[in-house]
Amino acid sequence: MTTPHLSKSLLNNYRQCPRRLWLEMQDRAARKKGRTPVAQAVYSADTTKRFLDGHVIGRIAQACWPEGVDIEKASWITDEDTGHRQRDLNYATHLTYQWMQDQRRPLFEATFQHQNLLVKADLKVPRRHGHRVYWQMIEVKSSSSPKDYHITDLATQAWVAEQSGVDLDSVALLLVNKGFELHTAGDYTGLLGLHDDPDLQAQVRQAQQQMPATLRGAAQTLALRQEPRTHQPGDQCTSPFECPYIGHCTGKTSGQTTGKTAKQTTPQPVPIRFYNDRGGAKAQTLIDAGHTDLRQVPPATIARLWNGSTDTHGVNQRLAQAVRTGRVVMDRAGAQAALQTLTWPVQHLDFETISFVAPVWPGTQSGQHIPFQYSLHRQAQSGQVLGHAEFLDTTGQDPRRALAEQLVKDIDPRCTVLAWNDSFERTVIRDLAEQFAELRKPLMRIHDQVQDLLPIVRRHYFHPDMAQAEGSTFSIKTVLPCMAAHLQYSQLGTVQNGGEAQLAYLLAAAPPGAEKEPGQAITQAERQQARKDLLAYCGLDTEAMVEIVKSLK
Ligand code: SF4
Repeated sequence: MTTPHLSKSLLNNYRQCPRRLWLEMQDRAARKKGRTPVAQAVYSADTTKRFLDGHVIGRIAQACWPEGVDIEKASWITDEDTGHRQRDLNYATHLTYQWMQDQRRPLFEATFQHQNLLVKADLKVPRRHGHRVYWQMIEVKSSSSPKDYHITDLATQAWVAEQSGVDLDSVALLLVNKGFELHTAGDYTGLLGLHDDPDLQAQVRQAQQQMPATLRGAAQTLALRQEPRTHQPGDQCTSPFECPYIGHCTGKTSGQTTGKTAKQTTPQPVPIRFYNDRGGAKAQTLIDAGHTDLRQVPPATIARLWNGSTDTHGVNQRLAQAVRTGRVVMDRAGAQAALQTLTWPVQHLDFETISFVAPVWPGTQSGQHIPFQYSLHRQAQSGQVLGHAEFLDTTGQDPRRALAEQLVKDIDPRCTVLAWNDSFERTVIRDLAEQFAELRKPLMRIHDQVQDLLPIVRRHYFHPDMAQAEGSTFSIKTVLPCMAAHLQYSQLGTVQNGGEAQLAYLLAAAPPGAEKEPGQAITQAERQQARKDLLAYCGLDTEAMVEIVKSLK
């Protein structure tokens, strides 16, 4: 049997988890043959956004070397008989060596092969030392600081290039300069910075020593006839990125809780997990002592483990009690007393924001969270909803000014503004106040009106399902189905989390004629659906807060 071709990204899949590589290759082979794969990759919105950011930064990097040759573009060939166009990797390799003879022009997507490993280097720049020309191998990344996986990426690229005879004098990362601010639309001078310090060279050289063993391990994995299920879900599933087979390996397709009690849903031993347990140290103490089921751990043991201030407001005592009894633990009097301190009616506020690795609107920075939408529910002390206001700008223009003006009109200056985890909403409002001097006073007043609903829940409520939630214990998406089972994020359309909201915004606000896939223009119906889904999602965020307040009363 011939070993299939491996690419840099497939090798990275293996590094993350051999099972991921095996599933990926099965998935690809099945799709080619029109069969159903063992498991289908499902990419999260965050991963898709990261791919999009990578493409944007790749295009900007190419513009920095206008004399460069794009090997990828040049290697598409048309079949004379069928007229079908496809990329020919052998031709790409041939073109790479041909252009390297020229020794003057940088190469994008230079293609190299060694053994069964084929790589495309983001950028190769010729550098003359005396009479000889060496090359600098550059990886272009949409991050602002070097990461461990950047080192292994560079090690793979450089190893294959050198094994196939290329003289490299150094490797480098081209990264985004943190805090880059756009002054003139389309001018990205200064967005990217080259990192090629001696430390990086040494780290990459060291990582290269692992290459033969990594390739051998990957080849052994590919030779397996059965899925290597010995690799069970763990920390590797989300590091450095979320694995697209996580649904397959965990047997779950969504992180939603059910709103049912632990008694009803978890006949199996309840794994020992705590809230805010850094590195799982406290849980490990119990596991080391022989505990296997959180329900069986005596309350006194939990109390001793979490004594003193380390257990924020006794959360883990409530967590353990909820799991042990299978019932909600709630201090209703305490919650009501906390709600009494608010100025009613309250206004529940939630923003949706978009961030661009390469800012598109002058006056904005790389990675800045720019609000394009909000939802605002007004609720009386009786629990009754008094009104709902919302804002959504999908014109594609900088939405901040219109949003800030509308927000100032919609917020009643006399009442508490509630947010879930308020630091985000406060930061967004403060940024708006800094941007628009004439709105600074009312915006800072709103900023000072904001209070956080989350700590009231954290101090007074725990549902058994929250202990085993896939997402964060006190995320609104975890808490809502526990308190109001009739409202579920999973019942929404294409937008069920912040990452999907960003993608929907990009779709709805794309310029006329924009394509979602090559040759496939975004239709009006798709734009309208994206708007509708955005309104439903953001509206549910504040409706959820209304329901949570009702449940606490
Ligand atoms: S979900 Fe986890 S265990 Fe499954 S393939 Fe991915 S990394 Fe491996």
